[in-house]
Amino acid sequence: NPRLITPEKRGEDVDATLRPQTLDEFVGQAAARANLKVFIEAAKGRGEALDHVLFVGPPGLGKTTLAQIMAREMGVNFRSTSGPVIAKAGDLAALLTNLEERDVLFIDEIHRLNPAVEEILYPAMEDYQLDLIIGEGPAARSVKIDLARFTLVAATTRLGLLTNPLRDRFGIPVRLNFYTVEELEMIVRRGARILGMPLGEDGALEIARRARGTPRIAGRLLRRVRDFASVAGADHVGRQVADEALTRLEVDALGLDALDRRYLSMIAMNFGGGPVGIETIAAGLSEPRDAIEDIIEPYLIQQGFIQRTPRGRVLTANAWKHLGLEMPRDVAV
Ligand code: ADP
Repeated sequence: NPRLITPEKRGEDVDATLRPQTLDEFVGQAAARANLKVFIEAAKGRGEALDHVLFVGPPGLGKTTLAQIMAREMGVNFRSTSGPVIAKAGDLAALLTNLEERDVLFIDEIHRLNPAVEEILYPAMEDYQLDLIIGEGPAARSVKIDLARFTLVAATTRLGLLTNPLRDRFGIPVRLNFYTVEELEMIVRRGARILGMPLGEDGALEIARRARGTPRIAGRLLRRVRDFASVAGADHVGRQVADEALTRLEVDALGLDALDRRYLSMIAMNFGGGPVGIETIAAGLSEPRDAIEDIIEPYLIQQGFIQRTPRGRVLTANAWKHLGLEMPRDVAV
């Protein structure tokens, strides 16, 4: 995926260097942080494993980071995998039997677990037991294996895709929201300090405003602006340098990229502003429906550019304005 501002993970080193290490270093998500602090203190006080935690929210908002911080604050090992990677029940069994007391097992994209694997997760989460069937036919027998009392920390972009029995096995889902510009500004300034980059306050604000509410994107834009500044020989990065770099990258003043704008203008030009169904949009953009629902739409909805109605997506007056187009009079929003 060539999108610069896609919030999905990419094999860049950005993540490791800029990742906050403690709950106190983690900016934003005040409600989630406060909850986690209580869970962690309570569990530590009792010398027990943390309850299983489910993080819900769009990609790039800090789910993996928080899971790592939880393990660090508990002083336990952190093991990480993801739903689509665990192909067979045996793969999960191998992971689970290697855990030590109170370890954190992080499963990203848990909504993409295969159902046979999900089955064996239930008793593991509830009773710290594995129920395995060994052999086939009349010789098959079931064996129970005791597991260490571990904590499952799982992440999903959409709660609605989880099966009910799985969802019920997590206490409270912890929801992560898009960051405010002020929060992103702090994250960008911290990042610039770590990277040793001479970033002015107005430069930090410009990057923050265009980071799509997402720390992962903020980190990526920061690095691209740094590249641009060093090639241009700028020894101070202010608003103008940041703006030039981001405009070249086709990130507009509100952080929308070319694909976001293609999404909005397709609904405007081809469907008179909607309502238009998600399948039609996916076909029109040649993008998978999942990617549109998980990555493009949450931010456009949060920014008030589109509304989801039972009959499909509808552009708001804001979106028409952002596209620089006249809104047709008969659009009911
Ligand atoms: P997710 O798991 O939700 O996709 P990650 O935890 O991998 O997101 O975070 C993506 C990137 O954003 C990481 O590089 C991390 O350093 C950075 N990041 C996330 N949340 C914060 C935060 N609150 N403060 C600073 N950096 C953050």
